[in-house]
Amino acid sequence: MRVLILTPVGRDAALLAQIVEALSAEPVIVPDAAALLQELPLGVGASILADEAIRPQHVQALTTWLSAEPPWSDPPFIILTPAGQTKEYSYHRSREFSTLGNFTLIERPVRPEALQSAVRAALRGRMKQYEVRSRQEALLRANEDLEQFAHSASHDLKEPLRNIRIFSELLLKEYGSKLDARGADFLDVVGSSALRMDNLLADLLAYTEASSIPDDLPVPIQARDALDAALGNLAAAIQETDAQIIAENVPAVRMRGSHLQQVFQNLIGNAIKYRRESCRPRIALQSSRLEQFWLFSIADNGIGIAPEHREKIFGIFQRLHSNGRYSGTGMGLAICQRIIERYRGRIWVESELGQGSKFFFTIPA
Ligand code: ADP
Repeated sequence: MRVLILTPVGRDAALLAQIVEALSAEPVIVPDAAALLQELPLGVGASILADEAIRPQHVQALTTWLSAEPPWSDPPFIILTPAGQTKEYSYHRSREFSTLGNFTLIERPVRPEALQSAVRAALRGRMKQYEVRSRQEALLRANEDLEQFAHSASHDLKEPLRNIRIFSELLLKEYGSKLDARGADFLDVVGSSALRMDNLLADLLAYTEASSIPDDLPVPIQARDALDAALGNLAAAIQETDAQIIAENVPAVRMRGSHLQQVFQNLIGNAIKYRRESCRPRIALQSSRLEQFWLFSIADNGIGIAPEHREKIFGIFQRLHSNGRYSGTGMGLAICQRIIERYRGRIWVESELGQGSKFFFTIPA
């Protein structure tokens, strides 16, 4: 690792370089602060700076450079202050250097062992930062690969599946009369299984696509528009079940409209789907401000969820019911969670079996 050395006294610099070399690091002596700023972006393990060589404008320039560094990076600075200074001086300089974050002041005259140990500690810390970066990069790569895999798999599987559906329909149309009841039943199962797989793949695709959310928060949109669009898509189910939906105080939020619509649609769709047979579905949407987020809740009077299942239901393909009773893929809540978490929000549920459910989620205001 490179250790940048900025000190105006030639002998000092040579001595410091020796100490750095003894630690198997590479000393790079820079003549002035401008040269230091040029060297820093080329990679640095630590910097040893003579206090008298650093003016306030240099601290400013270093701070600007640091602010553009990635989050894992916190390069250490060891600053050698002049001998025999007052406490006030050290205090004043510490405050000036505070924007550098990771800095240590060492008063001259410096004992070589003391400096060596400070540089060793700084380099060790820096090494840990690089390790964190490598691990993060490896994780990101693995995650991207997995997403790419899931995306291609769900995409590529659609084609043969379409053939299964088309040809089982053709079989029924052209040879249906030659089949007995058992044969027709078998064909029926082929058709409905293909349809189910088609839904699973569509949801899996929607799940992988929920990751393509930009790092920057979008401009605010009216959540009411997303809600209306979701209710429009649920119109048939609302009408069929005579569901009552009350939405109060629907604010503006910093989220892509299509994502919010997807969340509303899944949650309200579930609130209707998992209704109690004996009563008309009543669904209440509320929101309140929670620091820089909006907290939304969607409460229903449906069948409820047992406490031990409250976390599990957000998993991929996790369902609590057989397909015979309630249709679904077990992906709706997983998609909601993925979207919400990409916006740095949270989603959870409060519920008791038979007591209705209340889903909460937060999204940036
Ligand atoms: P799906 O509805 O396709 O099964 P989801 O991921 O949307 O998948 O939901 C997962 C499971 O959580 C559901 O199978 C159901 O058991 C349970 N669940 C979700 N919403 C509700 C609700 N409002 N009331 C009761 N149970 C629910």
